[in-house]
Amino acid sequence: MMTTERETQSNRRFQLTRRATLSGGVLTLAAAQLSSPWGLPETSAAEDITTDDRARSLKVGLITDLHYADKAPVGSRHYRETLGKLDEAAKQFEQQNVDLVVELGDLIDAASSVDDELRYLETINRKYSAIADDRHYVLGNHCVDTLTKDEFLGSVGQEKSYKSFDRGGIHFVILDACFRSDGTPYGRRNFKWTDANVSAEELQWLQADLNANAKPVIVFAHQRLDVSNSHGVKNNADVRTILESSGNVAAVFQGHSHANDLNEINGIHYCTLVAMVEGSGEQNNGYSVLEIDPKGELRLSGFRKQTDRHWTA
Ligand SMILES: [Zn+2]
Repeated sequence: MMTTERETQSNRRFQLTRRATLSGGVLTLAAAQLSSPWGLPETSAAEDITTDDRARSLKVGLITDLHYADKAPVGSRHYRETLGKLDEAAKQFEQQNVDLVVELGDLIDAASSVDDELRYLETINRKYSAIADDRHYVLGNHCVDTLTKDEFLGSVGQEKSYKSFDRGGIHFVILDACFRSDGTPYGRRNFKWTDANVSAEELQWLQADLNANAKPVIVFAHQRLDVSNSHGVKNNADVRTILESSGNVAAVFQGHSHANDLNEINGIHYCTLVAMVEGSGEQNNGYSVLEIDPKGELRLSGFRKQTDRHWTA
């Protein structure tokens, strides 16, 4: 297990230019490095990093848009089947010995009462919690349809809706775009799902957080930071400006629009993951393992409906 806070701060900046090529239907992203990108520090006497640790990739299990609810399917959304689909993902994550897991929002779907919703959340979170102690939650609009943010976070045991943490030389950022344009946090159907925003306070926090960091950065969000349609965060240009100015952000992983997608904007990859809730049967499942190689490779192994992605720093 690679552990946190072992690395000394590296002053190297993470600056990449990238190009995308399509070969055999597989999109490959290549990056030409301008300076040492991954910045995993050289071994120094002050460090306690073994050769094994340094050689090992960090593995992150990723799931999104589970929409679990004990209710009949609506259209292509098979709410109850999420339980079995998550079991399959959990097995794969266990086999691959992932270091941490992140769910990218919409863990639950709306219930007719707060009590029912808390039961749905408890049911799905029991399975999610069993996968790894090191697990993280991105708030999705459906998470706070029936519940307040405090109720959701309290129930899953996560202190804050946006935060950052370091693992194995990588700085991970979790964003919360569940704010209305006027800054009001989403909760109990007080919002329109198309009015997704990162709050002014959160933008300030993000800027300060990235200013204080010199490690390569991976960002997780629910609503999309790369599009200006109804699935996009309304002020995502402001978010992107902060991410770009840090010079260290390698990729953003997001959900919300339920289909595979990948965009590259000013050197940052925005990878949208497929929703677990879509479609009936195991063949319609979707989840992935993100492998971050210390030498600078990002490899997303997609299962079922999730597309593989790969780029090299
Ligand atoms: Zn969703």
